[in-house]
Amino acid sequence: MTLSNAELAELLAVAAEDEQDHRARTLLRASRAALQWPEEAATLAAQGRALTELRAIGPWTAHMIHDWLESPPEPPPRSPLRAGFLTLAEVRATLAEHPDLRRDIRGDLQMHTTYSDGHAPLREMAETAATHGYEYVAVTDHSVGLPIANGMSEDRLLEEIEDIDRANAELAAQRASFTLLHSIEMNLSPEGEGDMDPAVLRRLDLVLGAFHSKLRVTDDQTDRYVAAMRNSSVHVLAHPRGRRWNHRLGLTADWPRVFEAAAETNTALEIDAYPDRQDLDVELLRLAAEAGCWISIGTDAHHPEELRFLEFGLAAAARASVARERILNFLPREMLLAWAQDR
Ligand SMILES: [Zn+2]
Repeated sequence: MTLSNAELAELLAVAAEDEQDHRARTLLRASRAALQWPEEAATLAAQGRALTELRAIGPWTAHMIHDWLESPPEPPPRSPLRAGFLTLAEVRATLAEHPDLRRDIRGDLQMHTTYSDGHAPLREMAETAATHGYEYVAVTDHSVGLPIANGMSEDRLLEEIEDIDRANAELAAQRASFTLLHSIEMNLSPEGEGDMDPAVLRRLDLVLGAFHSKLRVTDDQTDRYVAAMRNSSVHVLAHPRGRRWNHRLGLTADWPRVFEAAAETNTALEIDAYPDRQDLDVELLRLAAEAGCWISIGTDAHHPEELRFLEFGLAAAARASVARERILNFLPREMLLAWAQDR
């Protein structure tokens, strides 16, 4: 028997609970990093390579992991706060079985720039996205109702729209087959209402809606979701549950009813591929796929480096057997725009 990175991540997180201060932080950092180790630690150890090759692993944690690999403890039950997350090693194994996914994906449908809380300017994000071989990427900066994320007013959104037009003209002049889509991550109230002028939203190619408040309530939130689906401005419900690895469980609802409403209203549900989010996860994606919902994959990148997270979303879709005909990111640009128009 050998321990997977997922099991090691859990062991590290549980060990962190028995430590304090610096040691607790070191273990928790290693646990979180294990989600993004590109190879199984057990494989490295078997090859005689140093575990300190892995991110956030120093001599102390390497020693600890070696001991666990040599005499594996009973893996602890996964804390609900950390359950349902894929590790990059699992993601890579899945994508190796489905090489067509990475080859055929046409774009990333969520990323942020310095127009809101991203760390890189529009053109830098665009350049990096283009190196991924995409046909398009949606620029989805935050809306006015989320000041903590430097959300944009209508005026700033209009400035961004014009800047995207200029950037697209520059790309066309270089004969690039890559374009930026006008989009937004619009803040939704718990009543499912947006915070931007619908007239301005109509100038966008794609509108993501997302809940960012009252995310820790534990009672059933089906009504909130159904209300969001009825909001005709919203094409995609972004990070539907609002969960964060080891931080927040996310909302709960009568999911079959929510997915039925999504299918009825042609509202796409997102796989937010950010490793700490993975929202929706594989289990719920399976239900969404069975209900015939459209799925949208976005990295939620706030940094050029993070655009590579798309593979977490692709692997989740593959594991949940989501048909690629139902994934917006596989549509050619014109078909994607037509889909959004129809909505
Ligand atoms: Zn968000």
